[in-house]
Amino acid sequence: MTSDFYCDEALSGKTKVSIVAETDDVFAFHHTRPFWPVHIVVVPRVHIPSLTDLGGHPVSLVHKVLEVVTQVAKQVEVEHGEARVLTNLGTYQDSKHLHFHVASGEPFGRNIDTESVAGSQEPV
Ligand SMILES: [Zn+2]
Repeated sequence: MTSDFYCDEALSGKTKVSIVAETDDVFAFHHTRPFWPVHIVVVPRVHIPSLTDLGGHPVSLVHKVLEVVTQVAKQVEVEHGEARVLTNLGTYQDSKHLHFHVASGEPFGRNIDTESVAGSQEPV
């Protein structure tokens, strides 16, 4: 495992990914180890450490990332009827390269965060 999967593997092309959307500044692809049935990640092409540490990059670059997040999330919402968007910070953040998760469906694993969500689900 590398500490920056995005720079080292996905953006470098070392690991082949299934691209969902891309612009000059932003790259969106299907997660290689999905946590949800629909799991897309959206990242800036340049290295930004996190949402709260832009590494000296202008916030306008985050806005460009969010434009793609919005576009991808809308596609997922239309297709599946529901979607979630999240970015992790601090110890929640595995790879220290800003990335937004766009996901839909029930998570494959269970953790504290998903327990409270599960309580609001209608029985199938
Ligand atoms: Zn990076």
